[in-house]
Amino acid sequence: MARFIFITGGVVSSLGKGLMAASLAALLQARGYRVRIRKFDPYLNVDPGTMSPYQHGEVYVTDDGAETDLDLGHYERFTGVAARQSDNVTSGRIYQQIITRERRGDYLGATVQVIPHVTDAIKAFAMTDVDDLDFVLCEIGGTVGDIESLPFIEAIRQLRNDVGRTNTVFIHVTLVPYIAAAGELKTKPTQHSVRELTSLGIQPDILLCRTEHPLPEGERAKIALFCNVRKEAVIQALDASSIYAVPLQYHAEGLDNEVLRAFGMEPGSPPDLGRWDDIIDRQKNIEGEVTIGVVGKYVGLPDAYKSLHEALIHGGLANRVKVRINWIDAELFEQPESDVAAALEPMHAILVPGGFGERGSEGKIASVKFARERKVPFFGICLGMQMACIEGARNTAGIADATSSEFGSGGSPIVGIITEWMSEEGLQKREAGGDLGGTMRLGAYEATLSGNSHVASIYGTTSISERHRHRYEVNAHYKAPLEAGGLVFSGMSPDGELPEIVERPDHPWFVGVQFHPELKSKPFDPHPLFASFIEAAVKQSRLV
Ligand code: GLN
Repeated sequence: MARFIFITGGVVSSLGKGLMAASLAALLQARGYRVRIRKFDPYLNVDPGTMSPYQHGEVYVTDDGAETDLDLGHYERFTGVAARQSDNVTSGRIYQQIITRERRGDYLGATVQVIPHVTDAIKAFAMTDVDDLDFVLCEIGGTVGDIESLPFIEAIRQLRNDVGRTNTVFIHVTLVPYIAAAGELKTKPTQHSVRELTSLGIQPDILLCRTEHPLPEGERAKIALFCNVRKEAVIQALDASSIYAVPLQYHAEGLDNEVLRAFGMEPGSPPDLGRWDDIIDRQKNIEGEVTIGVVGKYVGLPDAYKSLHEALIHGGLANRVKVRINWIDAELFEQPESDVAAALEPMHAILVPGGFGERGSEGKIASVKFARERKVPFFGICLGMQMACIEGARNTAGIADATSSEFGSGGSPIVGIITEWMSEEGLQKREAGGDLGGTMRLGAYEATLSGNSHVASIYGTTSISERHRHRYEVNAHYKAPLEAGGLVFSGMSPDGELPEIVERPDHPWFVGVQFHPELKSKPFDPHPLFASFIEAAVKQSRLV
């Protein structure tokens, strides 16, 4: 039977619970265990799909088409286990399910309440599809003490009794702040946070203490005493130089040993951490450095492009180079006095990422034009591919008014709304005026690549599957004029209807993809497109 590890957070948000869960899962996996990580989000949105990236960071999309919390990206990057719809739930989704059932009369006249109905639904979610697993790690979003997270805390308290005390471990992640004026680390916030948790019926087994300074023995003993945990179970979590150093660091602090011990299991032989050692070796022993210009919209918040950022870093690992990312606000290129060339000349490669809406689109198109004309490696992702097609249409195919119907009516819609497409469930239909939530082409779709294309040589195959999240498509009817202008449609949906990849054979590296390859890249298995793109940037850096 699967064992459950519940991870809560205290004191402040942004402690990196997601990374902690991902790192612990990676350590357990390195000991040969089968793991899965789940995220419980206490907010009322049904999923993060309609939230602004500024609110919530990136929306991470799974193979099965779920729009989920960005922590699922960490989980997948650290374990290689493909995340699923059933790995992320929000209060909104739980309530939606319960209210639908209530309206149907499923509760047979009962009063529907938080306990037991909401807590039962949360427990059912945690227990789904766990048969073939050794450990299920469940991360509770938010901070202990939040009103919103109470039903989740109550549900995990009950689960300990349901699945047996020896099958559950509670880890509480806290902050031990350093007060510069006193020159001391302070344990009081941790004590308060644990008291709050115990008042809700949960005694943590392990405390993971985030700190900027090493935790002295005295402080560790004090936390153990006041919080009722063994001293060895107070684990120091110092800030790490790289997120990929976290599994190694936690192992050195004894986290995985303590977790097994808390379950009453023998730790056995140490984990095989070769994959993590190799990553750190590649980060430490670099052979060069490249600068990538990312011309996008949400450049003020790094979390908005989390997976993209990581995939570029992975491309650097593959080539043993440091990747510097220069986030450029596309709107700046729309000012009359802006000098696109001056801003982009220092870049060894240019990437236009995914995005929504018209704002900044002309700046993105100007960046594509610069990369095409100057033969600087160019990578367009989702909206970035659409911009590459509009640029090609306007400047190399003679369609001066080329545009996307996302930007309003008028002009030649090279990019238009998808109203129909085939999925595994059969024909999908959408209407232009429909709801915004969950109305996109979402999740994994296959594409067929032309045998002699650049992308086929990069992938080493002509049949791929990648994740999508978009409402608009490049209109395949424009294939002939665009190809005459040098922009070749080198990847199509298997039915030949939807353009998936475009490339320019007369350019050193110019690829646009309708999907999001960054979602599947891993530090120990960099995505081939990112590895190849960074390789092209390295070549470019030798030219300039
Ligand atoms: N806004 C575009 C669309 O909906 C692109 C989406 C994206 O880049 N993820 O088609």
